[in-house]
Amino acid sequence: MIVSHTISDCRSHRASLGKLAFVPTMGALHEGHMRLVEIAREHAEKVAVSIFVNPTQFGPREDFTKYPRPIEKDLEMCRAAGVDLVFNPSVEQIYPSGHSADGALTFRSEDKAGAVAPESPPAHVVIDLPQLSGVLEGRFRRGHFQGVCQVVAKLFNIVCPDVAVFGQKDYQQLRILTCMVEELNWPIQIVACPTLRDSDGLALSSRNRYLSPPERQRALAINRGLVAAQNQFAEGVRQANRLVTTAQNVIMEGASPGRVSLLIDYVAAVDAMTLRSVEMIQSPAVIAVAARVGATRLIDNVILTP
Ligand code: AMP
Repeated sequence: MIVSHTISDCRSHRASLGKLAFVPTMGALHEGHMRLVEIAREHAEKVAVSIFVNPTQFGPREDFTKYPRPIEKDLEMCRAAGVDLVFNPSVEQIYPSGHSADGALTFRSEDKAGAVAPESPPAHVVIDLPQLSGVLEGRFRRGHFQGVCQVVAKLFNIVCPDVAVFGQKDYQQLRILTCMVEELNWPIQIVACPTLRDSDGLALSSRNRYLSPPERQRALAINRGLVAAQNQFAEGVRQANRLVTTAQNVIMEGASPGRVSLLIDYVAAVDAMTLRSVEMIQSPAVIAVAARVGATRLIDNVILTP
């Protein structure tokens, strides 16, 4: 397995790989990521994974600095899965002239010494799909999807994949990146991977490791709520507000002052393509949830197809 830490090294190795499927990640790999790798393998002979905790998609009060970075274990998992190329750059490789993590511009040390005046921020390209990025997560994580588009665009131009695989767990991200590739005529096939869950229903996520055992128990209510809505949909209910209310009620069931706190940011029923709110579900739709369990923010969703 080739492990590249620089853009030039990654590019020179990529040149000899032929048809390539790519799985971008922030590391702290779990079985969900490895499922993406399996799907990648079904689409191309060679598979590349990137491991990069991207500062520009984190907000000022988010977990960028404490985000887990178990790089040796991640590389071991990639090796075991037969990954051909891992791209694991430093923040300086990707943002040589600084970036705007945590809401404040950060410059390289030589820049701080005067090469770039603080009032001359780097001229970043902003890719935004406002109709898709302004809703759901976008309302709670300002600038998040601009950061995602920025880093994925850079990674696509460095890795030059033929196929890229993303998880439905981050449904809005998948939709935005699919549209980005279409809008910019990138010759990359975007493939979606269904959400992988633990046996108790909790969607696998790198952030699950923040949960204490009682918090994890409480977090199961998110999936229970989504399953309840899904069952109601299967029984023929098509009014979005009824499905949303069912999910909300199940998620909040058992909430009591002494228990682990679970605060819902949103439960929403949206059109699967436009991400606009729907009233009646007559074409594919998504019920999306974001909730904070203790200090950990989790997202999950189900796709409903009439
Ligand atoms: P992350 O490392 O969280 O940025 O995720 C990297 C990729 O893995 C994204 O495309 C995610 O949607 C995908 N992913 C994360 N968790 C899961 C999961 N439980 N099932 C399927 N895909 C996932």
